[in-house]
Amino acid sequence: MCGIVGYTGPRQAYPVILKGLKRLEYRGYDSAGVALLHEGKIDVYKKKGKVAGLEEMLVGKNLDANMGIGHTRWATHGEPNDRNAHPHSSSNGKLAMIHNGIIENYAQLKNELIKNGYTFTSDTDTEVLLNFIEYIQTNNDCGLEEALRIALKRVTGAYCILLMEQDNPDTIIAARKGSPLVIGIGKGEHFLASDASPIIEYTKEVVYVNDYELAIVKPDELILKNLGNEKVTPYITKLDMQLAAIEKGGYDHFMLKEIFEQPSTIHDCLRGRLDAQAGTITMSGVQEHIEQLKNANRIMIIACGTSWHAGLVAEYVIEELCRIPVEVEYASEFRYRNPIVNKGDVIIAISQSGETADTLVALDRAKENGAFIFGVVNAVGSSIARISHAGAYTHAGPEIGVASTKAFTGQLAVLMMMALKIANEKKTITAEYYQKLLLELNDVPEKVDAILKNAAEIKTIAEKYKDATDFLFLGRGYNFPIALEGALKLKEISYIHAEGYPAAEMKHGPIALVDENLPVVFVATKDSYHEKIVSNMQEIKARKGKIISIITEGDTISPTLSNDCFSIPPADELIAPLLSVIPLQLLSYYTGIAKGIDVDKPRNLAKSVTVE
Ligand code: GLU
Repeated sequence: MCGIVGYTGPRQAYPVILKGLKRLEYRGYDSAGVALLHEGKIDVYKKKGKVAGLEEMLVGKNLDANMGIGHTRWATHGEPNDRNAHPHSSSNGKLAMIHNGIIENYAQLKNELIKNGYTFTSDTDTEVLLNFIEYIQTNNDCGLEEALRIALKRVTGAYCILLMEQDNPDTIIAARKGSPLVIGIGKGEHFLASDASPIIEYTKEVVYVNDYELAIVKPDELILKNLGNEKVTPYITKLDMQLAAIEKGGYDHFMLKEIFEQPSTIHDCLRGRLDAQAGTITMSGVQEHIEQLKNANRIMIIACGTSWHAGLVAEYVIEELCRIPVEVEYASEFRYRNPIVNKGDVIIAISQSGETADTLVALDRAKENGAFIFGVVNAVGSSIARISHAGAYTHAGPEIGVASTKAFTGQLAVLMMMALKIANEKKTITAEYYQKLLLELNDVPEKVDAILKNAAEIKTIAEKYKDATDFLFLGRGYNFPIALEGALKLKEISYIHAEGYPAAEMKHGPIALVDENLPVVFVATKDSYHEKIVSNMQEIKARKGKIISIITEGDTISPTLSNDCFSIPPADELIAPLLSVIPLQLLSYYTGIAKGIDVDKPRNLAKSVTVE
């Protein structure tokens, strides 16, 4: 997590860095800081809280500098306060550094430094690494680049770091392992950042730095090297991202904007791939590896958070359509539990950012064991996209709100197309059913649009239940993962404790929570389980729980059992999750707003989890 920005060139560095930090704030907002090379020395300014607080503190200061680095933090080591904020300065004051990641062996390095007389002003692992670099530089009487190379060989953990040195007034030295770094190439200037959003308005030419690479960045020169001090040729790519996509475009919050973008983002995801009239799905990543995919012994889906819920929906859909066994794993569990992965297994990795630390390491392991990796990723050019054997982008555009919304429906759309394509090749579904599902999938953007037109109804429901302390979300079959997702969204955005459960399983425990104060959200669209879930509603009603139900238009029974209802257009049960999740996203958004929460930056969270 955490956002990193750097600039070296003829412009004023501070405004570039400040704007960049605001764009990256979704990655962490515990504290913010900048280091600027001003009149031959490094000035560091930092402050607990959001970037706006730093900006306010710096009004009226002389910030004249053509080189600088900036950081917005998601604390891992040491509480969020001014002291622990980045940039950190080295003991002799000559170096300043920002860091995204975790130095796992920091305690050992710290002891070594303490024995050599070092003292520390923060509790962070970052300051330890910085002083370790300084210590090597002093002891070996070498340049910063060499000291960094030596230091990094001793480091375990993950990092993207940017370093400035007082005596080297136009050079930023960067290194990465496990945390992302993009370098924008301008005319006589360079921009460094955790993702492309701070760079896009200055240049479209970027280099994605790889793990174990060092970048020596001057205004008119970019040198990439590996840790063995050999030069690496930078691979320049063109950014395909519009500035409007990373701005709020008239909405109060990114989250609301992103919820309302879904008709077009789902459309973008399907466009050029799904041709419902012709009955075709074009996905080159699937087509080129179709034998591997259709003959897979099993498919393992690896993901975290909301992406894991998309994986659960895919499990139901792929098993139903393709008759291939599917397991869905949390990446953080998978990577540590010595899982059995064999040649012939297919791994689908799902990640919005494509940088999720646990997922990345899990994939490395699986790859070593001979598995075929298929990435379902939103961020183009991200690490997961690059290490996968094949993949399909979700094309949802940059997602900035911390709670994932449009990326989730993009993931569902991609996974649905994949399943349909494999099933059609395998002949595990009839041509008629295949054709029906293609047409239904094609109609999703329009139906999502219809749901969003009634958003005000959800707002009223949210305001009615905003003071509840707990919520239960229940669903069956394809809607069970949607119940989990609804509960997760509500927790994230409104801080209300919420649990998602399979509706029938509710009797094995959660039903004990039900009383007249507990809102229970039923995701109860018309499907093959509908009668069963109606019985579950009866069970909750009998215990005086407050029922909020998401139902299919025309359902006349559920409203009689519910305190509040929201109807969505009819759809095949496999397609329904793409629709039933929308009101739940809105419910969490409006509840968060009703409670006065900063929904784009909910406490303790950060968007892409690039640390373990
Ligand atoms: N481990 C560092 C800290 O806690 C960096 C965390 C981050 O990636 O924001 O300060």
